[in-house]
Amino acid sequence: MKIRIADIINDSIVDGPGLRLTVFVQGCPHKCRGCHNPGTHSLDGGKIMDTDEIAEIIKKNILLDGVTFSGGEPFLQSEALAKLAQDVKKMGLNVITYTGFLFEDLIKDKSKMPLLLASDYIIDGRFEQDKKSLELNFRGSSNQRIIDVKKSIAENKAIQTEL
Ligand code: SF4
Repeated sequence: MKIRIADIINDSIVDGPGLRLTVFVQGCPHKCRGCHNPGTHSLDGGKIMDTDEIAEIIKKNILLDGVTFSGGEPFLQSEALAKLAQDVKKMGLNVITYTGFLFEDLIKDKSKMPLLLASDYIIDGRFEQDKKSLELNFRGSSNQRIIDVKKSIAENKAIQTEL
């Protein structure tokens, strides 16, 4: 499946635990003040890649612990990223997805469910500049939550965790 991406970073240590490949997707509707990645907002910028092509890049990096989807807003491309996430998990790697949406919104929206179900963890919530902190692991502002997706779906409420 095709996805529109802004960039791929093959050796990230800031987007989750261990060494990760991070796919920065293109397109974001949230317009957070102080956004760290404004170049990813346009829905028609970036470039189109096939998820199989990205899976091949991931497979070649044998040092990876996991894959992170960031952006941009990954849930705008829920189905294609879910397909990539399933391939990633077959490789024994975990999947973390950043989103400006809240878990409570995602779980009510059928179009967002494929990627939610395919992610091990989501880090949710818009970036809020007045809650910005450099002390937080893998998050930009203190309103953002690291959520264990499997447990949260089982209990039908957001269950937070640490990574
Ligand atoms: S969700 Fe992320 S990419 Fe989108 S505007 Fe907010 S900080 Fe920027």
